[in-house]
Amino acid sequence: MRLLLGCIADDFTGATDLANNLVRAGMRVVQTIGVPAAPPAAEVDAIVVALKSRTIAPAEAIAQSLAALKWLRDRGAQQIYFKYCSTFDSTPEGNIGPVTEALMDALGTGFTIATPAFPDNHRTVFKGYLFAGDVLLNESGMQKHPLTPMTDANLVRVMQAQTKRKVGLVDYRVVARGADAIRERFEQLRADGVGVAIVDAVSNEDLVRLGPALKDMPLVTAGSGVAIGLPANFGLAPSSTASALPPAPGLQAVVSGSCSLATNRQVKHFIDTSRRPALALDPLRIADQGAEAVAKQALDWARPLLKDGPVLVYSTAESDAVKAVQGRLGVDEAGSLVEHCVAAIARGLVADLGVRQLVVAGGETSGACVQALGIAQMQIGAQIDPGVPWCHAKAAAAGDAGLRIALKSGNFGTDDFFTKAFTAQD
Ligand code: ADP
Repeated sequence: MRLLLGCIADDFTGATDLANNLVRAGMRVVQTIGVPAAPPAAEVDAIVVALKSRTIAPAEAIAQSLAALKWLRDRGAQQIYFKYCSTFDSTPEGNIGPVTEALMDALGTGFTIATPAFPDNHRTVFKGYLFAGDVLLNESGMQKHPLTPMTDANLVRVMQAQTKRKVGLVDYRVVARGADAIRERFEQLRADGVGVAIVDAVSNEDLVRLGPALKDMPLVTAGSGVAIGLPANFGLAPSSTASALPPAPGLQAVVSGSCSLATNRQVKHFIDTSRRPALALDPLRIADQGAEAVAKQALDWARPLLKDGPVLVYSTAESDAVKAVQGRLGVDEAGSLVEHCVAAIARGLVADLGVRQLVVAGGETSGACVQALGIAQMQIGAQIDPGVPWCHAKAAAAGDAGLRIALKSGNFGTDDFFTKAFTAQD
């Protein structure tokens, strides 16, 4: 197998977001959790290695990214894509700049781009300034982010503070003139000693114009938006075969550990309209009786119900209730107790009760469930809602046919997501 595109993502849900865009543009994609020990689980065009390197120490982020690069190059990857968040989440020390630099050195290339633009998701870059919706990044709430506060929307400045290489700009007027003009501008910047070019993009058309100019560039660094213009460089076009997944016949369930507004609406919608059973988990009871005991009770509840259709098990609650629990248990303790319990339920549903189509709500919750299920790689299928595809995964708990799993972080998905997911399968 000759891998076309090798991707390194700095977090898990961001990796899925990128994989989803590549599938929609015609590539067959597998996402791996960390640097894999085994070869890819399916014949693919692109592999996205999901790291958790966004906020760790720069030296460790570099080491992990270089290990991923080596694994991807050993599989013949023709182009490397370093994926970060569309809000350019980073600290003054990194890790976007240092990782970009290390990948450039390892690939022996002196020039790359950097653009988090993703107009479909309301992230646009104009004259080097990143907008989230209608406001500058540093007015979007991101200036108060607990781990990666973004206080400057000017990406040329932000990137320059993180790298020794000179940073330049390809502005929207050049991008509007198409791939040849962009290539010309790249040459000009390169001649001026620029190593990293921030690229403006205010629409999907801009990203599609940018795509051909990236052909043969050894390293691309970007959010997930730029991915829509790359598969065409390899002669690939959108097709339903790219998103075809192996079947996974079996029972259906939803577990939710997300307390985001959208998830609260989705839980309510499922309870009000699906006429299927739903079980609420009480974090104080989990603290009192232990995660495994509460998980066992939930599985005993689900066992007789699953044969008639999907069930929902949720810890989802509104913010006042969450704050009250956090006040009693502490934020971290409450989070990890609930995650542990939901993950144990997910594992039991699959390993003991025969669930083979599982929807998980919550970013951190998804990480815990994937780990509990022993999933190392996922093949990416068609999206249920923007950014949330069905995936197919092998897991010891699921037997030879594997399982289908959809990982929905926080505010993704329409209100009917939990019912729609099961009807939206091919
Ligand atoms: P999202 O993607 O919506 O942010 P996450 O799963 O990433 O969801 O985060 C939700 C966090 O809240 C998890 O750590 C989860 O264990 C915790 N949690 C879930 N339900 C409750 C609850 N009822 N009370 C307190 N914490 C909760």
